[in-house]
Amino acid sequence: MHTWLNQHQLLLSQQILKVKLPHAILINGVSGAGKSELSNWLIKVLSCNSPANNQSILTPCMSCKPCLLQQSRTYPDHLLIDNDGKSIGVDQVRQASRFFEKTAQLGHCKTTLINAAHTMTVSAANALLKTLEEPNDNNFIVLQTSEIDTLLPTIISRCFVIDIRPPVGDALLAELQQSGQDPFVNLSQLSELSNAETNENYQTFSKSFIAFLQGNSAKHSEVLHQLNDNTECLRWLEKVMVALMRQQYKWLPGESQLNEEVIWSIYQVITSATKQLKTLTQVNKQFAFEKLLVDIIDIIQGN
Ligand SMILES: [Zn+2]
Repeated sequence: MHTWLNQHQLLLSQQILKVKLPHAILINGVSGAGKSELSNWLIKVLSCNSPANNQSILTPCMSCKPCLLQQSRTYPDHLLIDNDGKSIGVDQVRQASRFFEKTAQLGHCKTTLINAAHTMTVSAANALLKTLEEPNDNNFIVLQTSEIDTLLPTIISRCFVIDIRPPVGDALLAELQQSGQDPFVNLSQLSELSNAETNENYQTFSKSFIAFLQGNSAKHSEVLHQLNDNTECLRWLEKVMVALMRQQYKWLPGESQLNEEVIWSIYQVITSATKQLKTLTQVNKQFAFEKLLVDIIDIIQGN
């Protein structure tokens, strides 16, 4: 758990202990802020029969029936609503209100988590308003969003809002080092962590570059275009390769289709190109990017 979430855990724990937890909680934060970590913790604590009190922060016991069912993702009194990649429709929100109408199967409370709440359609948001207006003692609804500004103000006003603001700069670096994460890799992620748009651009770039590495030649010009267009992309090339290495060593989930040696060779041509590129003019940079992509194809095909 990121330490910057502790203050929110502390506050929520106090509210739970005083039986004053609001019925609708809206967790807002950029990608990487820890929204899922916080909401998963909250939902587990709410369902646990006897949460431990650890320095005023509640912790699920992990041994009661609800905790065990939560772990195997078969806990019947929790509903997850996610978007299908685009939006959350009115039917999904109605499903939540029907779920809340039924009695809890295991006992004390029922929880619903709405992921990417900003992707609700207008009718879904209006349906949710009705549910929020008729709270029931034992029902809790948690909404997660990275774009609170696009939510209906009437929804925001009915929720207890938690704004997760991860530390930036040196404070973030110290935080990551403390939690044993590689500061080299994570220092390069600062802007992705603190800026949603940069993060989105990184995700887009990463997808095209990985498709290119997997032999999708149609992605060649797309990657080249992005490299020429966005100064961050050069750094992102290294970041994608580091992520692939981590997948290779099973430090990250996912399957890398390239072997260790190929990943390492590509990483090396990228780092030496990066050094060289710093001294080049824009026109020469375009050539250098083209050469870099050709070198990468050579490494992949030579294997
Ligand atoms: Zn438990």
